[in-house]
Amino acid sequence: MIGIDLGTTNSLVAVCDENGPRVLANELGEDLTPSVIAVAEDGTMLVGRAARDRLISAPESGRAFFKRDMGTNAGYQFGGRRWTPVECSALVLREMKRIAEVHLGREIDSAVITVPAFFHDQQRQATVDAAKIAGLKVERLLNEPTAAALAYGYNRQDELSTLLVFDLGGGTFDVTVLECFEGVVEVKASSGDGRLGGEDYTDAFATWVAKELGYTAPKEQEMKWRNTLEHLKRRLSVEETVEVQIGVKAAPVSRIDFIEATKHITARLWPAVRRALSDAQLTPKQIEAVLLVGGASRMPAVQDMVQRDLGQEPQRSLDPDRVVALGAAVQQALCAGGAAVKDLVLTDVCPHSLGVEVSKALLPGHVQPGYFDPILDRNTTVPVSRSRTYCTMHPQQDEALLKVYQGESRLTKDNHLIGQVRIPGLRSTPGQEKGGVFDVRFTYDMNGILEVEVTILSSQKKLTEVFEQRPGTMSQEQIAEALRKLTPLKVHPREAPANRARLERAQRLFAELVGLLRESLSHELDLFEAALATQDSKLITTAAERLDAFMRPYFANED
Ligand code: AMP
Repeated sequence: MIGIDLGTTNSLVAVCDENGPRVLANELGEDLTPSVIAVAEDGTMLVGRAARDRLISAPESGRAFFKRDMGTNAGYQFGGRRWTPVECSALVLREMKRIAEVHLGREIDSAVITVPAFFHDQQRQATVDAAKIAGLKVERLLNEPTAAALAYGYNRQDELSTLLVFDLGGGTFDVTVLECFEGVVEVKASSGDGRLGGEDYTDAFATWVAKELGYTAPKEQEMKWRNTLEHLKRRLSVEETVEVQIGVKAAPVSRIDFIEATKHITARLWPAVRRALSDAQLTPKQIEAVLLVGGASRMPAVQDMVQRDLGQEPQRSLDPDRVVALGAAVQQALCAGGAAVKDLVLTDVCPHSLGVEVSKALLPGHVQPGYFDPILDRNTTVPVSRSRTYCTMHPQQDEALLKVYQGESRLTKDNHLIGQVRIPGLRSTPGQEKGGVFDVRFTYDMNGILEVEVTILSSQKKLTEVFEQRPGTMSQEQIAEALRKLTPLKVHPREAPANRARLERAQRLFAELVGLLRESLSHELDLFEAALATQDSKLITTAAERLDAFMRPYFANED
């Protein structure tokens, strides 16, 4: 078993043994593998850095940020077919599995996978489907901030503390309040925004540049321009001013400009923190440590906000990029009963309220449908099982349609429909007790997946096969079909991922350079391709080293 952080921007894989958790690097020696897939010119499937580089020169050849579409019916067209977010995620998961197999020298068939705490049921189910396609059984879906707290708690099993995990990733924002004492990590509350992250900062920056500096990239240059802005954004986390190169002009942009351009996004962070604190019934003063997680929490404006509003310096002992994967590995060891973590216990909460739709008789004779009746309140400790009793509107009514919703609004139209159950056999016969009355039991497990059981009280008939037809989730046949479609895309053994990545990078640089430099690169590239053709590992290594040395200065900022 392994722990996988399947991120919007990057993914990581980790293991935990008696020496503690550690992240496993990919063939390029990097811990972070971009969550990007693309199809190369020759039809080879690319995952990771090679894919990201390919998207810069050929934006239509693949896809990034598909995690944002998990659990929806989104589709992307590239490589001559349509791809779903689940299939794209499956390829990244399969790559993580492969990296772990190379390190550990054995086959891996199950994993703990992290998801944003705010992922709803369909998004979780989509993640489980992606894992199945990748050939992995999901041992546990673990909320990302909980994973971070586990990694933190691993080293401090005998200290008591109340923690706040502030997790701002590429596409999602999660806040979680936890208590750690004597090896027990207990989640008190969690809150967040499923569509708020570092990428929104890049978008806002692009909008600002368009308005203030009058430049918008033409369609075919969009990926490249975004990449440029992404790097400037990161540099602004450490430098006071950077220069934006637009054609032959260079315009200075200060950190203050960036903060101003993105302040409407930063303003969306605090309400989630406030809600998590109030659900946990704590004040900022009662928080003993703040953990920052996710690459976007590196931005000074975000750190300043945390420090100012929570009144304390955030913890810096754990790397925000790696902490979630490390925690997933600790959880993996917990599931496997590893000796390294025998004293650690975890309890989690369900992040959303879950309930059903009901009608209310607000005035006599006037029934108003569309109200949300929560059965499980948000931030209830899981695993949990709770039931409520409902009855039909009319004694002659034979059937009811039970609609299950997730959310916090009073009206179901503002919440998220996650499934429905048709309940037949409810008609009440004269003299019958409990006619038209039924129990609805919600059971929410540690993976954040909901099971609904309906019991008709008059007949004691039970219905449990509820969510099999949830929209967005895949049937066994669909999973088998997706597997079949992905199989021909197996990476050719000659096409070692490191060499593919090198070729994509060289191609991308080739598109950027002109004149003599381009010719020199072309020469190095020819030598490398010739070496690959010989399949002689010594020749390949020498040619690869030459090519890398040529390219290094151009990518010094990126890696
Ligand atoms: P994650 O999903 O945790 O990998 O987060 C990646 C996000 O963090 C992306 O949106 C990055 O642009 C952002 N990010 C990473 N490093 C930095 C940095 N030094 N400054 C600002 N944003 C960063």
